[in-house]
Amino acid sequence: MAIYYVFQIDKSIMMNEYIFKVFFIDIEVLEMETKSYNAFRTAQQQFDNIAGHINLDSGTRDLLRVPMREYHINFPVRMDDGSVRVFQGFRVQHNDALGPGKGGIRFHPLETIDTVRALSMWMTWKCSVVDIPLGGSKGGVVCDPHHLSLREQERICRGWIRQIARDIGPVRDVPAPDVMTNGQHMLWMLDEYETITGAKYPGVITGKPVGMGGSLGRTEATGFGVIFTLREALKELGIAPSNTCASVQGFGNVAQYAIQLYNQLGGKVICVSCWDQSEGSSFSFRKKDGISLDELRGITDRFGGIDREKALSLGYEILPGDAWLEQEVDILIPAALENQITSSNSGKISSRVKIIAEAANGPTSPDADEELKKRGIFLIPDFLANAGGVTCSYFEQVQNNMNYYWEKDEVIGKLDIKMTSAFMAVSELARKKDLYMRDAAYIISVTRVAEACKQRGWA
Ligand code: NAD
Repeated sequence: MAIYYVFQIDKSIMMNEYIFKVFFIDIEVLEMETKSYNAFRTAQQQFDNIAGHINLDSGTRDLLRVPMREYHINFPVRMDDGSVRVFQGFRVQHNDALGPGKGGIRFHPLETIDTVRALSMWMTWKCSVVDIPLGGSKGGVVCDPHHLSLREQERICRGWIRQIARDIGPVRDVPAPDVMTNGQHMLWMLDEYETITGAKYPGVITGKPVGMGGSLGRTEATGFGVIFTLREALKELGIAPSNTCASVQGFGNVAQYAIQLYNQLGGKVICVSCWDQSEGSSFSFRKKDGISLDELRGITDRFGGIDREKALSLGYEILPGDAWLEQEVDILIPAALENQITSSNSGKISSRVKIIAEAANGPTSPDADEELKKRGIFLIPDFLANAGGVTCSYFEQVQNNMNYYWEKDEVIGKLDIKMTSAFMAVSELARKKDLYMRDAAYIISVTRVAEACKQRGWA
């Protein structure tokens, strides 16, 4: 059992400085967090279950349960007060058998390598389940944008790219926005990449602002994609959306657009929750006759935090952070973070809940999954439900390559087709073989990736 590292002293291209780089060239064992929840352990557990189920051979199993490559970087950033702070970042490329790696980059103070590993693995399954020719990657920087000026955030974006530029690229690995990063961050990263390479590569990063290589519809894509799958699930269960109500965890990009489309279908959201930075805890906001999306958007900061005072004055009940899960609703949409539905709180889910649409990545722990299965709750698994973002990122790349941009209706129409056919393939298999939706989605994804690895002669 050994981990091999290559250490390299590297001269930064942009800053006349020497930078310390660490490459993993071979990984037999990945160090794990010792914390009680470990996203990578969950991802591996889910994979192991499916590998057993489909009798995957041991070579392919060993290949797919760990990332193919990972980069650990530390880079200096000049802060506004003139000091230099060194930030830690990661890029993990889980598997690229189906095409160049694809996956977001998160800015989060509690980012860990195991979270990034898990998310990169989930990206592999996500691209595969919606049948797009991309692999799975993910990146992160340990930082808290709440306490950083925009200039400092720009320098972090540029610093991250300087360190990783040679290991990503339009035909290698393509980052995108994720938690606490947005189109502006992507544009700074693109600009740094193009400065380093001396050419225009709009396809090196997706989620760029519209007019700067971004695709119309990308902002809405993940939230809308969640609702396209929810719409199909409701159809399958014979329930009209207008007869349903929902509770949502989170009020960021994904949650807001999911609520928008769900409202358009006639559904009513009665509760949302978000993180309150000043209190260091989360809160739920409830209006039993339905929250108003526009009203709440008007009192929400750019991190998806709702102003409690203003919400109170608008007649919202302010409840504890986990109250969103306990509401008497038909649909739960976790759209914030991983590990939010666990065996310790799943018992609090109302008997009325029929569907859980996992908008966030990894919101349900494996033991809670078992309970949801027993209760017969229809689960739309994360890597299917939230695949709209990466699908639209793929459309963005296609448009970048053509240098021709589609109208928004065309993008959303194509997204609907992709999401709906992916959902139907998974639900058909689930019905035929009497499988839990997560297991059916995994079987389809893992089989496609394993087959690609075999065809390439990797396993
Ligand atoms: P975001 O940063 O825009 O919003 C996150 C929201 O979650 C905010 O409202 C925040 O206040 C809330 N939140 C954070 N911690 C919370 C807690 N403990 N309890 C309640 N609320 C909390 O992020 P986003 O882009 O909307 O992403 C949300 C989830 O969806 C993440 O799991 C992300 O990985 C996943 N996802 C995002 C995309 C995308 O395109 N943005 C694509 C696929 C998956």
